Amino acid sequence: MRSLSIFGATGSVGEQTVDLIRRAGGARAFRVKALTGGRNIARLAEMARELRAEVAVCAEPSGLAELRERLAGSGVEAAAGPEAIAEAADRPADWVMSAIVGAAGLVPGIRALRHGSVLALANKESLVTAGPLLMAEAAAHGARILPVDSEHSAIFQALVGEDIAAVERIILTASGGALRDWPLEALARATVTDALAHPNWAMGQRITIDSASMFNKALEVIETREFFGVAPEQIEVIIHPESLIHSMVGYRDGAIMAHLGAPDMRHSIGYALNWPDRSHLPVARLDLAQVATLTFRAPDEARYPALRLAREVMARRGLAGAAFNAAKEVALDRFLAGQIGFMDMASVVEATLEALDDAIGNGSTVMALEDVQSVDHLARVRAAERADIVARGRAGAG
Ligand code: NAD
Ligand code: MG
Repeated sequence: MRSLSIFGATGSVGEQTVDLIRRAGGARAFRVKALTGGRNIARLAEMARELRAEVAVCAEPSGLAELRERLAGSGVEAAAGPEAIAEAADRPADWVMSAIVGAAGLVPGIRALRHGSVLALANKESLVTAGPLLMAEAAAHGARILPVDSEHSAIFQALVGEDIAAVERIILTASGGALRDWPLEALARATVTDALAHPNWAMGQRITIDSASMFNKALEVIETREFFGVAPEQIEVIIHPESLIHSMVGYRDGAIMAHLGAPDMRHSIGYALNWPDRSHLPVARLDLAQVATLTFRAPDEARYPALRLAREVMARRGLAGAAFNAAKEVALDRFLAGQIGFMDMASVVEATLEALDDAIGNGSTVMALEDVQSVDHLARVRAAERADIVARGRAGAG
């Protein structure tokens, strides 16, 4: 029987993973080692009971008493806190879903790789923050990382049986997010509610805002560079409002292989779960006659400064990705809290990269976890300072 763990089980990707596991037989078909969640302790306990997990772990130590109570008599162990989440990754599992949001997903992912697991990676932040480290850990322990981000799963599938050396370009598709049709000058006034109205994908709150600002696509460009090892110039972004082509690989003979499907994350989660096989998945089938048209447009970099910043991060390499992701997380928190505006997120990130110039841009691809964590911390401090300045300016102006 295959063993598995899900980190971030109560989130959007986590719930869809649980759904596929339930449909594949649940506790009768899999030995479930660990399930982790954040604040939704009731839901975490419920899924841990259903899947008969060995251990359930919530992110906040203060949630432990409630988790214990809800698991009483179930035989599922309860634990809490970041260290307990990392320890849960030390329970060897054949397949591990990394679906925590943000840099908090990095350490459990690394620990799982050290046990030679197949790591289904939704947590793109860990590749952006410490791509070379993750790839080195996988290689050293014979572990395998499978992409779960829909674009990267599409690229991975378009590469099956091909030689990466024959790849000329990788074309990442982007929906353009909730604000894609807003006039440029209105973007500065966009609210959280505006940015959450995603046209195609139902996702967690943070990635939905990141889609509207294209910080999500910026992270994905860097993720592509780290995962597939292609040069930054080979990676293109195109807006494709229908979100039916999930990404494309262009080969040196001019052929382009595209991956199409309904916008449903269970495609890429299911592909990673069943890999290297394909099994039936409960996703809508495309009726192309009904779809009739697929449209494309080039992204306007004035609307999406995040894309330009991603290019800078790739040019610097080293610890620039860790600083970029951490600053972006802070800027996003501040936007969600109503303290800074939608377009201020990019300016906070840009100012943070400039402030950390000396600490990050060493061009190196060898990194230690401690260095990644210290730059992550430093970037959070600098980004918070910058966001405070912006917030004071807005309060003064308003
Ligand atoms: P989400 O916010 O819905 O869920 C995140 C999960 O992580 C929850 O279980 C939450 O409780 C947990 N969590 C949050 N902060 C934590 C912390 N500090 N420590 C431990 N656990 C914590 O997020 P999501 O949309 O499911 O996204 C998860 C990851 O997958 C992200 O990296 C995201 O970029 C990526 N992703 C998501 C989608 C999607 O469709 N939702 C698509 C592609 C990639
Ligand atoms: Mg994606």
